[in-house]
Amino acid sequence: MRYANSKEGYLLIDHSASPGVPVEMAQLLGVQSAPEGKTLEVPTLHCNHCGGNQIKNPDRLRARGHCNQCDEYICDSCAVTYHVTGVCICDHKRIDIAVDHGICIDPASQLSILTNGSN
Ligand SMILES: [Zn+2]
Ligand SMILES: [Zn+2]
Repeated sequence: MRYANSKEGYLLIDHSASPGVPVEMAQLLGVQSAPEGKTLEVPTLHCNHCGGNQIKNPDRLRARGHCNQCDEYICDSCAVTYHVTGVCICDHKRIDIAVDHGICIDPASQLSILTNGSN
């Protein structure tokens, strides 16, 4: 399945050859999944501020978050922060700030580490 908007992705859960997640369990957990023998493919949206991906709710009536500065989709959490602060801190700005401060992610521990010689 292809989506017209390039910022959209998709989540594919393939349980065509596995027991899958029973419908009752998925409902109890509040998640979408595929039962035994089925596949589920749903569109996702990429937040330009936090870099997270959200499953797109096709029944949503409220306007989705949008940043006027980077002119991109932002998730609800980032939309609240943007609404309060009016500051756009998109993905690439976060990376630039981290690099400027000598911070990177240790691939082994997934923790932020300083690389400016202070550790
Ligand atoms: Zn976000
Ligand atoms: Zn922005």
